[in-house]
Amino acid sequence: MSTLPFDPSQLGYNADVVVIGGGLSGLTTAYRLVQKGVDVVVLEARDRPGGRMASGTFNGESYDLGAQWIAPHATQLRKLTHELGIPLTMQYHDGVSDIYLHKKHHTFKQRVPMLSPAATLDRGRILRKLNRLATSMQVPTNKVIEQINTLDQMSFAWWLKQTCRHQATVAWFTMLCRVHFHAEPSEISLIYIIDQVQAFQKAEHLFLARPAYQHERVVGGTQRIGERLAQHLRPHITLDAPVLAIRQDDNGVTAYSRGASFRARFAVIALPPAVAEQIYFEPHLPPGRDALNQRILMGRAIEAVLCYDYPFWREHEKSGFMMSDEGPAVMVHDVSPATNTEGALACLIAGNAASHWGAQPRGERLRALVQQLSGWLGNEAGAYRGMIERDWNGERWNRGSIGFMPPGTSSFVHSINMSVGRIHWAGSEASSQWTGTLEGAVDAGERAAAEVITHLHEQGLLKQA
Ligand SMILES: Cc1cc2nc3c(=O)[nH]c(=O)nc-3n(C[C@H](O)[C@H](O)[C@H](O)COP(=O)(O)OP(=O)(O)OC[C@H]3O[C@@H](n4cnc5c(N)ncnc54)[C@H](O)[C@@H]3O)c2cc1C
Repeated sequence: MSTLPFDPSQLGYNADVVVIGGGLSGLTTAYRLVQKGVDVVVLEARDRPGGRMASGTFNGESYDLGAQWIAPHATQLRKLTHELGIPLTMQYHDGVSDIYLHKKHHTFKQRVPMLSPAATLDRGRILRKLNRLATSMQVPTNKVIEQINTLDQMSFAWWLKQTCRHQATVAWFTMLCRVHFHAEPSEISLIYIIDQVQAFQKAEHLFLARPAYQHERVVGGTQRIGERLAQHLRPHITLDAPVLAIRQDDNGVTAYSRGASFRARFAVIALPPAVAEQIYFEPHLPPGRDALNQRILMGRAIEAVLCYDYPFWREHEKSGFMMSDEGPAVMVHDVSPATNTEGALACLIAGNAASHWGAQPRGERLRALVQQLSGWLGNEAGAYRGMIERDWNGERWNRGSIGFMPPGTSSFVHSINMSVGRIHWAGSEASSQWTGTLEGAVDAGERAAAEVITHLHEQGLLKQA
């Protein structure tokens, strides 16, 4: 007997497709479907579209407090921003950058930061090893599956400890793990890392920091992408509509929000799996999918932007880019507005540091950040005008920042984008390439839209080519 309030099969359809989640992935799905003439409704839990693309303002300027950078390889995302008429700007990189690693201070001007000669060689060796492992596991023969199961028992931290010849190399990969996954290497399966090397095409894209990621930014903040997509979808998007339950039957899907239900032929769930896990499904999800939703954990991150009268570090020929394995910030970037109205440094606190500093009062966090920045840029760093920040840890509608898989979970991953009857999966975590990034979100959204379009064609419900 149904435990849901009423029998939805008595209702007509509100739309052909209900998209659950109005982040970049869900909005991309809906945008592509609407372009094909499909009737869509997007249900978004928050009072704004965009999800992990979120900005904050200081003194009238908008700064990213979630996703920020567009990587050189992000072709689908770049195509989308171009279609939407959203301008991008190059990340400022001129001058000297700094790395504090394993109690040593390195400076660099070139794009790939150098460590000591021995550690640089060791880092290259580890990158090549990761690339070789990723290539050797592309075809799932019985031998490969056996190897996957063996390597999946190891954390990335354990493997680094066994494989690196220098402690500085371990420290390097630990720092980059925090930058990319917002998690500690001890939390992440080695197989997940190898899977991500495949998803990012080569280990250098994950573990050399620049030029992999921090290439361009959206003028006015990435939230603009969500706002612009939502404008295009205006009659089709409902905000403040968290989906609490989903019922599927032979003819369609019903999504239940607070006091309202939405009936469609198909559903696309564009949420991090850990968030989808909170939804009540009827019938219950197949065991493999349910287990997967429980096993993709979310990283922890706080993004803080400190604002200054002007980018004073540029006068000292500093780029405003810094990475540190001691923290609180693991990575800092110059995100000063192009208008030159003020200077701004974006500080990413990630992994264990995010758990620790997230539990401290705001004033303590600010004091610790200013102390770190002063150690790097001198006393002028203390003359900040203000700080805006966002702590993604435990936000109800994200449950953290970026998904990753712990050891012992690789056998569950194959169901990540397998539809369950009329339910299809989007969301950055469900992308097989550039997973966990904006590009991954667009990729998964485009894929889910294509899947649903195929079904609608098959059922003769879509005439348009
Ligand atoms: C601090 C931080 C920094 C990052 N930096 C970068 C970067 O520089 N470059 C990059 O490429 N990527 C970055 N990322 C990752 C990037 O933000 C994500 O990969 C991408 O935005 C995910 O989009 P999505 O649509 O898959 O998920 P989300 O953005 O999480 O969208 C899911 C949406 O679903 C909504 N929702 C949740 N539950 C429900 C429900 N029950 N019913 C209805 N709606 C619901 C949420 O409110 C949300 O809007 C960063 C992420 C964080 C947190």
